[in-house]
Amino acid sequence: MIRLAKLTLAGFKSFADRTEFTFDAPITGIVGPNGCGKSNVVDAIKWVLGERSAKSLRGKEMIDVIFSGSAGRPPQGMASVTLTFENPELDEATLAALRDRDAIDPEHAASGEDSSADLGDDPAEATGLINRSTVRKRLLPVDADIVEVERRLYRDGASHYLINSRRARLKDIRDLFLDTGVGADAYSIIEQGKVDSMLLANPVERRTFFEEAAGVARFKARRVESQRRLERAETNLVRVREQLDSTERRLRLVKGQAAKARKFVELDSELRALRAAQAFDQYDDLRQRLDGLTSRLVSLESERSAAAAALEEAQALRQEAELARHDIMEAQQSTDRERSGHQHRSAQAQQRAAMTERALGEARAALAEDATRRTAAEQQAAALASEEAALAQTEAQLATESAATEQQLRDLSAERDAAMSEVAERRLRLAERRASVGSIDRELAGISARLDS
Ligand code: ATP
Ligand code: MG
Repeated sequence: MIRLAKLTLAGFKSFADRTEFTFDAPITGIVGPNGCGKSNVVDAIKWVLGERSAKSLRGKEMIDVIFSGSAGRPPQGMASVTLTFENPELDEATLAALRDRDAIDPEHAASGEDSSADLGDDPAEATGLINRSTVRKRLLPVDADIVEVERRLYRDGASHYLINSRRARLKDIRDLFLDTGVGADAYSIIEQGKVDSMLLANPVERRTFFEEAAGVARFKARRVESQRRLERAETNLVRVREQLDSTERRLRLVKGQAAKARKFVELDSELRALRAAQAFDQYDDLRQRLDGLTSRLVSLESERSAAAAALEEAQALRQEAELARHDIMEAQQSTDRERSGHQHRSAQAQQRAAMTERALGEARAALAEDATRRTAAEQQAAALASEEAALAQTEAQLATESAATEQQLRDLSAERDAAMSEVAERRLRLAERRASVGSIDRELAGISARLDS
């Protein structure tokens, strides 16, 4: 029997954190309060084995299996469940015993491979992983001591299966557990409420359970598979017959085409011969024309070199003429420059002449004015001369008067001097008298003081 070693849940239903169940020893039962998650574990096992009905997993849609969050935790983006099986190599005796029990027929041993190749699905990496014809010493047809089967589902709906970390299809999972009693709807999983449904089942339904438990179910499955293959083979036969008919039709057609082809080959070789003859004719003709053209080319070549020499000469002349033209142009330019200098100077001279003309006019006017002023001045000078003569007369008269006045003045000042010396003498005598009056006053005061005493 295959042994389940471990079950790992992550983000599946109430198992938000990664949780591992390790089955080291046989387990009789797991107990826990209602709603603690016992059935979720069973759901996980069914899910990883390929359960496709969300209802059977007690949800509305498949995405409900992803942890949907709780009071303190946000929802998760992915649910993952992994089953880990031990798959050791078995010894010959155990294998022989198993073979006797199951009576594995060699044809069926290879059918796992065939049926997976029949599938038109995308080729999964794991297809090569499962191989019943080469892996014969192990219970699971995978050449590894441990087989891990994983199913993942993302919130965006993406989902895939992995066998030993390699992408696989649901078909691969089914192939892996074929004949082992492991499966989402196999009798090995009898979940809550299923015992009731077994007891209440009608005889036909109940027969299904028994058949599965007795191992008949897998033979039935093989029969269905064989019938399917037979039908496919018959369809293939019809298709091959149709192909044969069409091939015969094509053969007739091809025969006619072969005759045409032979005729074509004949005509083609004739055409080739004619083409060769024509080519030779053309070749001769062209050869002659080429000779003529070659001699013509030689004469043209010499003409061309003569023309080139003439051209060179002409170019030299042209260059000289160009130089001469350049000199002339330069001379003309300097002449132009000089002429414009002259013009400029002439304009300046004209301006200056006009200015001088104006100054001359002004000077003439000033001269006329000066002449008038001179006449007036001359008249004034004559008047002043007569005035001067009169004044000279007056002066002479005044001089005589002045001499008389000066004599008078001298007499008067002598008188004044005499008066002044008399005044000084009188002042002296006054001062003397005042001094004597003072001494008399002091004598009087002394006398009156003595008198008083
Ligand atoms: P009982 O003894 O009544 O059968 P049980 O142990 O089988 O109970 P389960 O039915 O496994 O319990 O677990 C139900 C619990 O799992 C509920 O509390 C439910 O809220 C929780 N649960 C189910 N799906 C999810 C989900 N997607 N995300 C979070 N919790 C979930
Ligand atoms: Mg339950």
